[in-house]
Amino acid sequence: MSTVDQLLRSMVQAEVERAIAPLAAALEAQQEVLGRFAAAFGAPLKRGPGRPKKLALLPAGKPARVGATKVRATDGQRLCAVIGCKRPARAKGYCAAHYQKYRMLKETGRLPSDWVEDAEPQTVKNIVLPRGRAGAKALAEAKKKA
Ligand SMILES: [Zn+2]
Repeated sequence: MSTVDQLLRSMVQAEVERAIAPLAAALEAQQEVLGRFAAAFGAPLKRGPGRPKKLALLPAGKPARVGATKVRATDGQRLCAVIGCKRPARAKGYCAAHYQKYRMLKETGRLPSDWVEDAEPQTVKNIVLPRGRAGAKALAEAKKKA
């Protein structure tokens, strides 16, 4: 390394140190304030409990939270009858959402033959219903047939 290089380096280092001096002082002051807080309350500042643990980590046998759509079937629980649905069964073999769909389909006379009561888990093929105008039309047609 040349002497010019070294000189340049030391100059830059000195300049940087001078520039960050106020920042370092501020940090030190903050540390001191935190320390005083700790002394006042008799314990170091602790962070909160944070995000709750994932449900999978909870001991088995604990019921899944009601209404939590993100909760997937927990161990030992029967799965929803609809193929591909990972929620636990709530009524007649269906999860809450698919039981509502079952009821609606039954009421409007559009219940497919495989949507039976107390169906075995993962045995019922889900159906996609038409929406909007097409949905209204399908509903009217079903009503006409009934
Ligand atoms: Zn389901």
